[in-house]
Amino acid sequence: MSKVAIVTGASRGIGAVIAQRLARDGFAVAVNYASSAYEAEALVSQIMAAGGQAIAVKANVANSSEVRALFDATEQQLGKVDVLVNNAGIMKPAPIAETSDELYDQIFAINTRGTFNTLREAATRLNDGGRVINFSSSALGLKLPGYALYNASKAAVESMTHVFAKELRGRQITVNAVAPGPVATELFLTGKSEEQILHFAKLPPLERLGQPEDIAGVVAFLAGPDGGWVNGQTLRANGGIV
Ligand code: NAP
Repeated sequence: MSKVAIVTGASRGIGAVIAQRLARDGFAVAVNYASSAYEAEALVSQIMAAGGQAIAVKANVANSSEVRALFDATEQQLGKVDVLVNNAGIMKPAPIAETSDELYDQIFAINTRGTFNTLREAATRLNDGGRVINFSSSALGLKLPGYALYNASKAAVESMTHVFAKELRGRQITVNAVAPGPVATELFLTGKSEEQILHFAKLPPLERLGQPEDIAGVVAFLAGPDGGWVNGQTLRANGGIV
């Protein structure tokens, strides 16, 4: 029987490549999405065509009953969950002075509560020996203007990561966070000029943007046998930007 992984926000970007990578590594993968059904179903077909096992499951991670249903559907169709990758997230940079109540709520609902919702399910439903991989950001280290709320929402994720690792004592479950630097996805590229993109690409000493594959490799390491002794950590993967 294959081990089972849930990847939240896997219809595109980093999550989609993580889902493909984990399927290649032998996991049966639940491809979660909130609205991009077509992309999620297309990814599932791609994974199946390559000999892997996957299902698409719609759930807004900000909604606790939808998250419960995501775990229910995964258990029913693939089996009990071994790996949870909390990749779903949004980034809408804005100076504090220009941030509406609605934007504040949306960022924290998806990035922070979304992670909390899946962690709470995972606490009772993950197989012993499992892995939890949360998503923070190297933006926390860069401290750029406009990123106060995004960084705050991800700082909360890092805090939950470190405490949750200890709460799962005795279960042989590791809990870590990955903190990517700029990665060439819709989330990063949207709203930026060519010049701004080039500026970010030149920041790390490796002088390029990250690609989703760079991050999927780190997630695969943490989810696989070689990552078993890493626990309660935030792992920055950013080409040396910070
Ligand atoms: P992306 O290309 O915008 O993709 C985001 C994914 O999340 C989509 O599949 C989207 O699916 C899904 N999603 C959004 N809201 C959701 C919700 N409420 N419930 C379930 N799924 C939801 O973003 P990305 O760049 O791949 O980012 C992935 C993660 O990496 C995020 O946590 C982000 O903060 C983090 N990160 C990214 C970068 C970067 O530079 N790209 C850097 C550091 C950290 P739908 O369209 O179906 O909503």
